[in-house]
Amino acid sequence: MIDIHSHILPGVDDGAQTIEESVKMAEAAVADGIRTIIATPHHKNGAYDNYKNDILIQVNELNRTFQERGIDLEVLPGQETRIYGEMIKGLQQEEVLPLNQESNYVFVEFPSGSVPRYANQLFFDLQVAGYSPIIVHPERNKAIMENPDLLYSFVKHGAYVQLTAASVCGKFGKKIKKFSEQLLEANLAHLIASDAHNTGSRGFCMTEAYGEIRSTFGLDFVYLLSENAEDVLVGRALQAEPPNHVKKKKIFGLF
Ligand code: FE
Repeated sequence: MIDIHSHILPGVDDGAQTIEESVKMAEAAVADGIRTIIATPHHKNGAYDNYKNDILIQVNELNRTFQERGIDLEVLPGQETRIYGEMIKGLQQEEVLPLNQESNYVFVEFPSGSVPRYANQLFFDLQVAGYSPIIVHPERNKAIMENPDLLYSFVKHGAYVQLTAASVCGKFGKKIKKFSEQLLEANLAHLIASDAHNTGSRGFCMTEAYGEIRSTFGLDFVYLLSENAEDVLVGRALQAEPPNHVKKKKIFGLF
């Protein structure tokens, strides 16, 4: 299994703090069936900055440690970039790092409570510049929960969406679990990833999430999501069904 979103690099953000914690996370990942993981430290989120070249060096070091300790987990470089107006400049100046460096897929994180007005224009400009934005965990964004059509519009215009496995498993509560299901049902989610920060409260649960999706939506959907994760690594186009609007009635029932 491939996990495209994790905070497994030690001491760079609010994920693993030490190399020992990274090793513990790696063991938990392997136990959950993960063999390839993208390290996506926070960048520009107000608390942490992690620049492309630093990430590349740290990923190499972590791979060396895992090899020395006989841990069967390959780490690839990536970055969880908080949306900012100069993102394209950041990519050109080699500050922002696409997933697996060469893929042209770029993680975009919104602030947890809102979606900036310039996001539509930025996503358009990113695509013109040859990049594909992947919106991370919109199921936990307050503005999108209140108005899922925001997300519909981004997807309609070419953005992709990654849900957090723990959201699908109900680890962030019933509302977020239900909303995650609605996004999957409306073809507004293309990827599942752990966004693991540790081995406790913010662990992996990828196997459990795929299991939930299998029982709700069937095995074909699990294949689509996991093949999309493979395609991200090599920069291939993702499989995406035409998006639908999330049915409002169900949402109103939740709040
Ligand atoms: Fe994250």
